[in-house]
Amino acid sequence: MEPRYLSDEHKAFREALRTHIQRHITPHALDWEEQRKVPREAWLAMGRAGFLCPWIEPQYGGSGADFGYSAILREEMVRSGSPGLSEGAAVHADIAAPYVERLGTPEQKKRWLPGCVSGEIIAALGMSEPDAGSDVAGIRTTAVRDGDHYVVNGQKIFITNGMNCDIIILAVRTTSPGGTEVRHGGLSLLVVEAGTPGFVKHRQLDKMGLHGQDTAELFFEDCRVPVANLLGEEGRGFKYLMQNLQRERLIVAIGGQAYAEWMLEKTISYTKTRKAFGKSIASFQHNAFKLAEMATEVAIGRAFIDLLIDDFVEGKRDLTTEVSMAKWWTTEKANQIAYQCVQLHGGYGYMREFEICRDYCDVRAMPIYAGSNEIMKQIIARRMGLEE
Ligand SMILES: Cc1cc2nc3c(=O)[nH]c(=O)nc-3n(C[C@H](O)[C@H](O)[C@H](O)COP(=O)(O)OP(=O)(O)OC[C@H]3O[C@@H](n4cnc5c(N)ncnc54)[C@H](O)[C@@H]3O)c2cc1C
Repeated sequence: MEPRYLSDEHKAFREALRTHIQRHITPHALDWEEQRKVPREAWLAMGRAGFLCPWIEPQYGGSGADFGYSAILREEMVRSGSPGLSEGAAVHADIAAPYVERLGTPEQKKRWLPGCVSGEIIAALGMSEPDAGSDVAGIRTTAVRDGDHYVVNGQKIFITNGMNCDIIILAVRTTSPGGTEVRHGGLSLLVVEAGTPGFVKHRQLDKMGLHGQDTAELFFEDCRVPVANLLGEEGRGFKYLMQNLQRERLIVAIGGQAYAEWMLEKTISYTKTRKAFGKSIASFQHNAFKLAEMATEVAIGRAFIDLLIDDFVEGKRDLTTEVSMAKWWTTEKANQIAYQCVQLHGGYGYMREFEICRDYCDVRAMPIYAGSNEIMKQIIARRMGLEE
């Protein structure tokens, strides 16, 4: 059954996106993975074609598209073979830029959103620190007011788009002049522009997978950020982060589902043609049952994800519990399916030149980021009234 959000316009958008991916992304994807960098031109080409932040209002360069278009972008980009661009663009468009759109003043929106649509501005979100990942309220990077600037000092780690970003939405602790420490209430969001003295892009991290994705360690050393770059109100950063995380986690859950579907399709096709003992690998009952089980799990995941996309587009109810459920379930399934699919590819499954090998490494990050799967279960348990 088709989801409710999918109109003829959405389908036409999907077709145009597929053509763009086939022509401009997939042929270069492996090179980008090996070079560990996606060139800016690939971002600009996405922007020219209208595939970056289509949800931004037309007055700031976007098309005012609904969340259904973001879901299509996430699903199709996963299949592009370029996790570097796929993950980077998802963080840019559906995780970082929405803060500017939701909290920005008209002046701030005019300054940054058109560039987010064209690809001239790449956005990142800087929450995690060496000693504050799951525990967001433990953020230590400080922003101390000095006239019409904040002076920022601290360190961020694991930041997607960190090396190539033009702006970063930075979660900081705004200590009051009296120095009062308030854990949740003391956080604020600043937009820091690349090139600001003291914003140091220290290094691109060496990861297990997602090689084309730029994941960085950043330092802020007496970095003077204009007060005009504060997003929303000072001290409300924790609340803003928690609100936006629902969209971020749904995007990750859609990614988990899309990966599971794509890996299974590739494995069915491989095991139907690969032969042993005069028969296809898929036809041995053990393997056929494995494929049947995975097809069942993927179908169940798809039904749940489509329901959530529909409800998110319609914005009728609080989806925190269901989004947390979807985030842990689809990303864990993607990993279980990756394991089975590598096994069904035999030795070839262990070779990086085979996509399934790279997928196996790429999906491993999903249960960790955007709030780990343990944190998702904690949220669900709390909302079930299980925490004392
Ligand atoms: C590829 C990648 C990209 C990323 N991109 C970004 C980004 O763009 N921006 C950004 O800000 N961050 C980003 N992150 C960071 C990511 O969000 C954190 O790694 C994640 O939140 C976990 O934090 P941590 O690594 O400090 O682990 P920790 O918080 O130290 O957790 C370690 C383990 O303990 C578990 N744990 C923690 N608390 C509890 C608890 N209360 N109950 C049970 N178990 C618990 C965790 O689930 C985890 O398994 C990225 C990470 C990766 C791997």
